[in-house]
Amino acid sequence: MAKSSVFSVCGMCTVRCPIKVYVENGQVSFIEGNPHVPAMRGAVCPRGAAGTALINDHERPQTPLIREGRRGEGKWRKATWDEAFDHVAKKLKSIKKKHGPQAIALSDRGGPFRDIHRAFLRGLGTPNYNNHDSSCARNVQHAALSLTGMGRKAVSYDFKNARHVVLQFRNIFEAINVQEVNNLMEAMENGCKLTVIDIRANISATKASRFLKIRPGTDYAFNLAVIHELLNKRLCDERFVDRHMAGVKELEQFVQPYTPEWAEAETGIEAAQLRQFVKELADAAPAVIWHPGWMAARYTDSFYICRSIYIINALLGAYGAKGGLPFVNKPGDVGRKGLKKFMDLYPKPEEKRADGVGWRYPQFEEGPGLAHLLYQAMESEDPYPVKAYIAYRHDPLMGYPEPERLKKMWEKLDLLVAVTFSWSDTAWHADVVLPLSPYLERESIIVTKNALKPNFFVRRRAVEPRYDTKADWEIVAGLAKRMGLKELVFDTVEDLWNFQLDGTGVTIADFDPKGIVGLADKPLYRDFEDIKFKTPSGKIEIISKNLEDNGLQSLKPYQSPKTPPQGQFRLTFGRCALHTQGHTVNNAMLSEQMPENVLWINQQAAAKLGIGNGDRVSVSQNGYAEEITAKVTEMIHPEAVFVIHGFGHKLPIESRAYGKGLADNKFMQGGLDLWDPAGGAIAYQEHFVEVKKAG
Ligand code: SF4
Repeated sequence: MAKSSVFSVCGMCTVRCPIKVYVENGQVSFIEGNPHVPAMRGAVCPRGAAGTALINDHERPQTPLIREGRRGEGKWRKATWDEAFDHVAKKLKSIKKKHGPQAIALSDRGGPFRDIHRAFLRGLGTPNYNNHDSSCARNVQHAALSLTGMGRKAVSYDFKNARHVVLQFRNIFEAINVQEVNNLMEAMENGCKLTVIDIRANISATKASRFLKIRPGTDYAFNLAVIHELLNKRLCDERFVDRHMAGVKELEQFVQPYTPEWAEAETGIEAAQLRQFVKELADAAPAVIWHPGWMAARYTDSFYICRSIYIINALLGAYGAKGGLPFVNKPGDVGRKGLKKFMDLYPKPEEKRADGVGWRYPQFEEGPGLAHLLYQAMESEDPYPVKAYIAYRHDPLMGYPEPERLKKMWEKLDLLVAVTFSWSDTAWHADVVLPLSPYLERESIIVTKNALKPNFFVRRRAVEPRYDTKADWEIVAGLAKRMGLKELVFDTVEDLWNFQLDGTGVTIADFDPKGIVGLADKPLYRDFEDIKFKTPSGKIEIISKNLEDNGLQSLKPYQSPKTPPQGQFRLTFGRCALHTQGHTVNNAMLSEQMPENVLWINQQAAAKLGIGNGDRVSVSQNGYAEEITAKVTEMIHPEAVFVIHGFGHKLPIESRAYGKGLADNKFMQGGLDLWDPAGGAIAYQEHFVEVKKAG
């Protein structure tokens, strides 16, 4: 029996854990966490273990497909790769000739593999790169930039050495990052406290030393009161504040009305509890992490919630601290040379972005832009027509509100291409489907992990593709060749990797022993004295010139959220450890474990409506309704209902997911227009639904 193993990178969620894959007779027999990465402890999460079900799944696109019927009708013609590439390239060329290169847009899921996608767009001459971030972490990113001049990934979270961790927009034991979970569990075994602030008792809350069930939409009130308590009781890290913060006097004045007693009336969390919590935080400082979250596209004030979180971390001196938020190191910080970037092969296009970021909205960084505004530009043709859209491993029809309205916005597109390894609503609606090989069947470009100990890592192919699918770099090369971008056409993946590694002193063979190449011997914590933020003053600036110059407030007064009308609830959603949004719900192993979502509803609220645990209920909004099973529990705030996101698939081709559960994004009328002008992200949790017993 032929046995082998290969180091690779998991692709079942965006964390991209390092893994080791065992292969027997050309089949994947086992997947484990890379044993050379200590924090993996050899583990993968349930989704990581279900990678084999993904490659064995015949309900995924198996060949390139070109649409024959109407969009979304599901009539396809199988095509060879040459046919599909020729078809897409011909359309792109004609659109470019008629409307200019800016008429081409692409969105992906962001992350470290995007360099080659962005290079492709730059080569074509279009500025219209977007990713899903306006439905996820844009508020966090802009909050970090507004205070420190540095993005959210400039710091890491030193869970292993933390003494108190606070999770507010982060559910670490369900939206899993294996290394972070292992490090946090180790810290908790050593006495680290965990506080969870949420509208419901999620799995993280069940492991916490303190769970604060907060009224939905009032997180900002709670955080302002925490800042009030820290400043009024002089519980801050004075040395850090004096040396590294500007505008603290203005902050102190601003938070004066926001006392713990005031916050209690808003949030439902007792003032005494808040005071005790703040005292414990100060006792543990600076080894404190108040995580600013990933998915902070929730409320209309989420940007300010994220800002308040960063401010609290700073007041506690956690920035740069061991056990807090130490700065990550890039290769250059440890005396090494970084990878060569594909993007640098081409100049930055000069045309303004279709989504208005950087000119109509100068407050935002360009980066991944704001995809919801790109879609609006597709409809309005303002500032110019966008006629081709490539959704690259991105499913906006499941990820953004108002999918039917989105389809209308896309009606003016002459070309809609989906690159995907699984079916999605967006792929089903596309003109052309280019099937990506699942991660166990493909290689990816080498990427850099900036960290306390930075490293390079690479995804290697564990088994050959079972169907007629291709790797990311092969798809880009196939299109690039036809579009005249010869710099992105690599004959072999080794040629591509050698291009990236040129000048780094690292070779591909260096990845063989461990799967990753470390660039430093030990974690490097920057000295307190060396900390310099990328703001004009070099300090964390509470008063942001960028915000103020653009008519936005640095210190925004709190506004109480709306209370749902009688019989209605605020619709909230989140993650679980068994699924990654919509793209795993048809996975044979995972759908067996969790075939559908249920509606969490508060016990007293349900009793008033005559709803019992396990009853079928009808959820509706403005005439649209779906049915779902109720989970009646004390563990959720009475103003909210909650579902796991990603369910409610209606594609006939997905037999396991078809018709199971509820799709939350269909209950957000007007949601594409409801976004935060300061943070840029969609405000997903500002919608109310009516709930009734079905039947
Ligand atoms: S957290 Fe789980 S699914 Fe995500 S990359 Fe790691 S093992 Fe894979």
